[in-house]
Amino acid sequence: MQNKKITWPDGKLFAFTVFDDTDLETVKNAMPVYSFLKDNGFLTTKSVWPIKRQQTPSIGGDTCENPEYLAQVKSLQANGFEIAFHNATFHTSTRQETLRGLQKFHDYFGRWPKSMANHADCQENIYWGENRLTGLNKLFYNILTRGRRINFYRGHVEGDPLFWADYCKKYITYVRNFVFEDLNTLKQCPFIPYHDPQRPYVNFWFASTEGAAVQSFNNALAEENQDRLEAEGGACIMYTHFANGFYLDGHLDKRFESLIKRLANKNGWFIPVSTLLDYLKEHNGEHIITHAQRAMLERKWLWHKIRCGTT
Ligand SMILES: [Zn+2]
Repeated sequence: MQNKKITWPDGKLFAFTVFDDTDLETVKNAMPVYSFLKDNGFLTTKSVWPIKRQQTPSIGGDTCENPEYLAQVKSLQANGFEIAFHNATFHTSTRQETLRGLQKFHDYFGRWPKSMANHADCQENIYWGENRLTGLNKLFYNILTRGRRINFYRGHVEGDPLFWADYCKKYITYVRNFVFEDLNTLKQCPFIPYHDPQRPYVNFWFASTEGAAVQSFNNALAEENQDRLEAEGGACIMYTHFANGFYLDGHLDKRFESLIKRLANKNGWFIPVSTLLDYLKEHNGEHIITHAQRAMLERKWLWHKIRCGTT
């Protein structure tokens, strides 16, 4: 049920985690950020692309086919970080290629991915683009995007060569959808994780906080927001790309460093995304979103998209 006060484990006062989309991450720029997080007591979620393919991506980065990179990601997993799925690779994949990507993920990490986020350049995304929205909100989105996203994403369309949503349902528990500016993700969407009967191939959706690049991440995590998150007993699932300005020219961003160190001194629960969502699912029950709740989320996200323009 929504709005029921959450009691966090071990007397913790709030929860904080990050879902990191792997765009532009390489053997050089990812590990310094993760070593820093680990040293400060944070376990978060890093997504990967399991396979590399022929086409040139508009947004590249290392895949698990680079042995050095794979070794780094496996060491993160061994240290308690969650490894998640960001599609099979950095561009569109057919059903067969997505299945190969999922199988490779299983081979590398010994399990199916528990959580995922759609990668914007992949047309096999599930319920993405206009399909994130319903009714008038969908119409408004299509006007806003000048119709460029109509029938663009088709991973959930049965019979389409890009269809793989049945495997998403079989293997993956949590998929990211709406992003908001509030550091307290749970305040903006109190019923995460939720099931949407209009989008049946996704078991449960989760929302996130806007932090796509270092500037927006730091803005969200500003001191007054940290204090409010703590006072509200809330939970943050930050949406980010750790390759996007967090580590440049051999140094971590100074503001990022000081904000994370400040947060580390608070009595927070710093666990990967799926651990948090499992706990919330247990607490909230397997929430099925109502029409009113869906309409509220969609409207709020459309305003966010108009203001911020990211996912
Ligand atoms: Zn991406």
